[in-house]
Amino acid sequence: MNIALQTLRLGCHLVRVNCTRSVCTSQCIMASRHKHSKRIEGLDKNVWVAFTSVAADPSIVNLGQGYPDIPPPSYVKDALINAASLDKMNQYTRGFGHPSLVKALSQVYGKVYGHQIDPLKEILVTVGGYGSLFSTMQGLVEEGDEVIIIEPFFDCYVPMVRMAGAKPVLIPLRLKSEKKKNITSADWALDPDELASKFNSKTKAIIINTPNNPIGKIFMRDELQLIADLCIKHDTLCFSDEVYEWLIYKGHQHIKIATLPGMWERTITIGSAGKTFSVTGWKLGWSIGPEHLIKHLQTVMQNTLYTCPTPLQEAVAQGLLRDYELMGQPECYFSSLAEELKGKRDRLAAILQEAGMSPVIPEGGYFMIVDVTALNEDLSHMADDEAYDYKFVKWMIKEKKLAAIPVTAFCGEASTKQFEKYIRLCFIKQESTLDAAETILRNWKKV
Ligand code: PMP
Ligand code: GLN
Repeated sequence: MNIALQTLRLGCHLVRVNCTRSVCTSQCIMASRHKHSKRIEGLDKNVWVAFTSVAADPSIVNLGQGYPDIPPPSYVKDALINAASLDKMNQYTRGFGHPSLVKALSQVYGKVYGHQIDPLKEILVTVGGYGSLFSTMQGLVEEGDEVIIIEPFFDCYVPMVRMAGAKPVLIPLRLKSEKKKNITSADWALDPDELASKFNSKTKAIIINTPNNPIGKIFMRDELQLIADLCIKHDTLCFSDEVYEWLIYKGHQHIKIATLPGMWERTITIGSAGKTFSVTGWKLGWSIGPEHLIKHLQTVMQNTLYTCPTPLQEAVAQGLLRDYELMGQPECYFSSLAEELKGKRDRLAAILQEAGMSPVIPEGGYFMIVDVTALNEDLSHMADDEAYDYKFVKWMIKEKKLAAIPVTAFCGEASTKQFEKYIRLCFIKQESTLDAAETILRNWKKV
């Protein structure tokens, strides 16, 4: 018997218990050897997969998936062309991060953190913020652990915690204000007692995201201190997703939780070149933290992806060095992008208000969640197996040709009721895209 046949037989044998067929069928094989691993059980649905292809139709105005349609800075694109034209830049580079990139990162973040960052031991360059999050979970989270996640959260946190064998423990931000108008992301906050109740001896880490996707909340110092105090009290880690760290609107300040006393040694901070330079397709990200934690992420990296594309890393290094020199000046992209986006944020909010919706004004990032309750769209003709926001977005794409993302994609089932009246819109878009959205929203009731 050849090996292939033996394997098939073995596969079928495994399911024979419930199998009445006399011959092997493809279903038998699917049900056995071809079955998914337990670690991905229940993780097959994904909001980006579901909504990105629908929104790709050019007749649809796409304010859904978060990517800029404004051009990235030319010096970053030119740096990539130059890097790719050098032969040695087209070969493998150092696995944990191209030397010039980790050096540039250590310069930029040395300034931000106010202490030296070791480029070789305290930084890991990976495939996007996603790769940083993944290596963090795989390197530090254990079967049986609990990881606290604040709702609404960037959707991959829960699957990543699950794939590491741990249990996600969710806690929602709550709308603390009763006001009906001019709600901002600062009106959403954690309940300190509720947060404290989530920590126990199994808690391995808490994931925070500031500025937050999708609400745009920037955690203030007292909020971060509350989280830090609990991390220290329970000796837990903190994974701080700060991919939108530069997108801070006037009057607000981004604080890194790792800079609070006692937090550097227990925090991994996640960054992204895609967000920093508006090049989401480059998929480069980084984790920064103490050597005793980063070395475990490096173990994951060296045995999974090994290294990231060299020319992209070189180009991001050049971009960082350019903006490092300009830090504090208006032409520095780290701050000039937020200046540019503030106008777009305010424009979109005004258009939405005029259309009768209630936007939550974000303090940071490039997303805005919007309460659509007042529109009173009757969607009772649609199948009743989905949350209202999913139905609303599907209906809006089809009937209004405007794409958004349903906010319950960013929360657990228990919080559906709290979030299903919101949709998320992305506003890092050209004026012409916002013009097209404005036309749709102005004509909302007319069609
Ligand atoms: N974290 C958050 C909060 C995000 O919104 C994203 C979206 N891209 C990521 C991480 C992943 O970043 P990247 O595209 O660099 O993988
Ligand atoms: N981070 C982006 C967003 O929130 C895109 C994520 C993705 O496409 N997977 O829209």
